Amino acid sequence: MISLQSYVQGRWVAGTGDPKTLHDPATEAVLGDVRPGGVDFAAALAHAHQVGGPALRALTFPQRGELLKALSAKIHEHRDELIEIAGRNGGNTRGDAKFDLDGCTGTLAFYAHLASTLPAARHLVDGDGTQLGRTPRFWGQHILTSRPGAAVHINAFNFPAWGMGEKMACALLAGVPVLEKAGTPSAMLAHRLAQLVVDSKILPEGAFQFFAGSISGMLDLLSAQDTVAFTGSSVTGALIRGNKNLVARNVRVNIEADSINSAILGEDVETGGDTLEQFLGNVTIDMTQKAGQKCTAVRRILVPAGKVAEVAESLVERLKAVRMGNPLDGDVRMGPVASAEQLRDVRAGIQKLQAVCDTVLGGPQAVADKGYFVTPTLLKARSADAAVLHELEVFGPCASIIPYSGRVEEAIDLANRGGGGLVASVYSDDRAFVEALVAGIAPWHGRIWLGSEKTHGQALGPGAVLPGTIHGGPGRAGGGEELGGLRGLMPYLQRTAVQGDRAVVDRAFGKGQG
Ligand code: NAP
Repeated sequence: MISLQSYVQGRWVAGTGDPKTLHDPATEAVLGDVRPGGVDFAAALAHAHQVGGPALRALTFPQRGELLKALSAKIHEHRDELIEIAGRNGGNTRGDAKFDLDGCTGTLAFYAHLASTLPAARHLVDGDGTQLGRTPRFWGQHILTSRPGAAVHINAFNFPAWGMGEKMACALLAGVPVLEKAGTPSAMLAHRLAQLVVDSKILPEGAFQFFAGSISGMLDLLSAQDTVAFTGSSVTGALIRGNKNLVARNVRVNIEADSINSAILGEDVETGGDTLEQFLGNVTIDMTQKAGQKCTAVRRILVPAGKVAEVAESLVERLKAVRMGNPLDGDVRMGPVASAEQLRDVRAGIQKLQAVCDTVLGGPQAVADKGYFVTPTLLKARSADAAVLHELEVFGPCASIIPYSGRVEEAIDLANRGGGGLVASVYSDDRAFVEALVAGIAPWHGRIWLGSEKTHGQALGPGAVLPGTIHGGPGRAGGGEELGGLRGLMPYLQRTAVQGDRAVVDRAFGKGQG
């Protein structure tokens, strides 16, 4: 039994207030607790501003990259121990835990490498300079400098390692100290990661602080140079975006929220081909990996009406083959959802979808005496028009097949009814269909993953977020953007146009001066 502590101002601080209990979601055993209070937010913020920020900004981009490289290696060294914690407190199978942990270390390593390609400077040059006067003597150049604020990172429970790692990588490389808030149900993994970061002494003092309990009071203290990066549900996202202080002071806020992601099968896709194989494989992974608790998981499966029976039968066969049980057992492929609250929400969500769908497999009924288990649940919509299909995120191993005509216009309309998505996946070898579909859904999606005969076995599926391309999406998905190489640093950098005598501007800030 452990009571998780926060790390602020260079020391571990016990929480205060009513405890929230942490469980093993497979056995319901009590593992520890988190208490909401105990942290002096103003002091923590001042520590980041006055100690961590200056220390990071004194380093060049490649030097900051060295810190990320060392952090990645340190976390990787403890991989086995961390996998075990993710299994016990998060309900993660070994595969789920590796997805989270390797995503964390891989993203830190990606940004470490990116940093090694940047100039040994403390600012970045943004694009080419441009003539502004009658002659080239009066010149303009955009530069990017580190904002002298703090990065408040609010993470969701489903990716305690990756969520923290990917946000830290971008902020620290940009020269901004981080304050990391863990999602409560799986906070034990985030807490252990925080211990590793602190004990390693890799980061300068004040560059890293960690909050096990609540952080909402801190939002009222932030000012213009601070940044909030939030990952979680759209309801909490809206609450944070609407915080009066954040609005009044124009504090930068990046929101990564939920999304009713679609997988779209083209009419051209034939039985037995690699395109169909990819589609079936990726949908099965998305429904069962992390017990469906991925913001990128497929919730809507758009299938031409004539192929629905075949697709449903193949998915049922694959989903039945996924062994569910205690995630620490080696041959188990799907664990429980993370908490009793999640179990309740997922069951209620499945029931709401069942009001407009036929049940092909599974359902909300209890499947074990102990533990927060939900059986993989495949539904089939009676009509594509039911709003709940496009609006309700059931954050568990559940997805709905939505029959459609096979026409591209209808696929576009249905995919966009999600109101803004993190990712849509498209499976087709009909280039005209794919081109029209991408053009029609791109404004509503942050990422579009194209599966075809040529891509089979070439890459991770649409559920994987890779640091080289952006993660985020418009509307419902939060309207934010993370990662995408250097783009991921932008919430933490200020772009400034420097205008003046070209000799002065170029010498200090031109290309090559970086
Ligand atoms: P959540 O309930 O919205 O919580 C997210 C985070 O916000 C947690 O750290 C939570 O702390 C904190 N929080 C809650 N209320 C707050 C407030 N008033 N002020 C400041 N912080 C507050 O979401 P979740 O249940 O952890 O995560 C599941 C959801 O996240 C799903 O909807 C999923 O789709 C979404 N998600 C999105 C992405 C993405 O990248 N777009 C990635 C992963 C998950 P406590 O845990 O202590 O309440």
